[in-house]
Amino acid sequence: MGGDLCVGGIVPLTTVDYPGYLSTVIFLQGCNWKCRYCHNPHLQSMAAPEFFSWEDVLDLLRLRRGLVEAVVFSGGEPLLQLGLPEAVADVAALGFRVGLHTSGAFPDRLEGIVSSLQWVGFDLKYSFESYQFITGIDDSGEVALASLKILLKSNVDFETRMTVHESMEIAAIVEVLEEISGLGVKNVVLQKCRDKNENVVEHPIFSDKLLLESIARRFDSFHVRE
Ligand code: SF4
Repeated sequence: MGGDLCVGGIVPLTTVDYPGYLSTVIFLQGCNWKCRYCHNPHLQSMAAPEFFSWEDVLDLLRLRRGLVEAVVFSGGEPLLQLGLPEAVADVAALGFRVGLHTSGAFPDRLEGIVSSLQWVGFDLKYSFESYQFITGIDDSGEVALASLKILLKSNVDFETRMTVHESMEIAAIVEVLEEISGLGVKNVVLQKCRDKNENVVEHPIFSDKLLLESIARRFDSFHVRE
């Protein structure tokens, strides 16, 4: 069982974390990146401020069978924790669909687990050459691209979403969207960034309707998420 997991939090019921399904989200503690806009900085450290044992999590999930359809592992970066594959197996054995939110920081681990997942939310950070500008980590663009290629090779349903921070250049955003379209990505969401008070921080790309329409034509599904 996934007993070694360090769980930083749980949202028992959401409609937005696994498109089309009511889900429970399990936030795993720890991330090896340091994104300038990180929405969950309290999860970056491996030291959990609040601890749930994996058995407690499974007990909660057993009670939710029939109420929620899916369980999403989020973070932090869930693939940082070596107990994740066993935890995914535990959740699948309870009859839930299993989703994963990932930055793509661990392509080898993603490859090992992808066939056990029904859905992945892949966080695209920026043009692959400029990833470090967002993540603060040298080789982050390289590993993220490797992870995206693993998702494309697999049969898993996945969404590529990019949080658009005020510091990001339109040209670099367009460049990477063109690149991933060429690689075969079909489903893209641009997410508006929020500040610490949860207020949207607008970026000029969202006012350029013609540009958004031309981007949208490159994908089967493209939308902006507030
Ligand atoms: S990958 Fe996600 S959890 Fe990690 S620092 Fe970036 S935004 Fe935060």
